[in-house]
Amino acid sequence: MKCRYIPINENKKAFHCILITNNLTRKIFEGEKEMKLNPLQQFICDECQGVIKKIDDGWVEWFDGDEDPLHGFRIVHASEASPRFEEGGNCNYPESADVSDHYLKVFTGSDGLAWLLAFFERKSADPNELAEIIRRLHIPHYEEARHYLERAYTARIIDDKVYGQEDLKKVIKEYGND
Ligand SMILES: [Zn+2]
Repeated sequence: MKCRYIPINENKKAFHCILITNNLTRKIFEGEKEMKLNPLQQFICDECQGVIKKIDDGWVEWFDGDEDPLHGFRIVHASEASPRFEEGGNCNYPESADVSDHYLKVFTGSDGLAWLLAFFERKSADPNELAEIIRRLHIPHYEEARHYLERAYTARIIDDKVYGQEDLKKVIKEYGND
């Protein structure tokens, strides 16, 4: 394993550290805080709370019943990528006629954003849930910072709930190793 420290700000004594492991995976550290997720490429499974290591390992699902608005949007492991797969399990909602789902990759990039915005135009979809899933899939660092945002806002580490890039990085740096 090699570790290369590159000073990025002499005054603050912050460093970038690139770790190259035997299997050539790479982790980037900022200062002493590890950025756990590769932004917009890795996600946290809403079912098992494990890391979805790449876009192809993810799945998006939601409830799409006749009477209810679209709701229950969540990001989960694709069945073969689930840590439960070997025991015959998965991370998906139980099978039901009301459950809709699609590959995570369908909702990434420009076309993915177009899909999600089209959901918005269906007035029967929950707008708060859609805004959250759009932020998770399209705003770098939001996925990693999201669980700390209320704490950060209460502690006045961030001043608003717009979640710009500087604020999200600040939150990860403050809480990322908790
Ligand atoms: Zn999972």
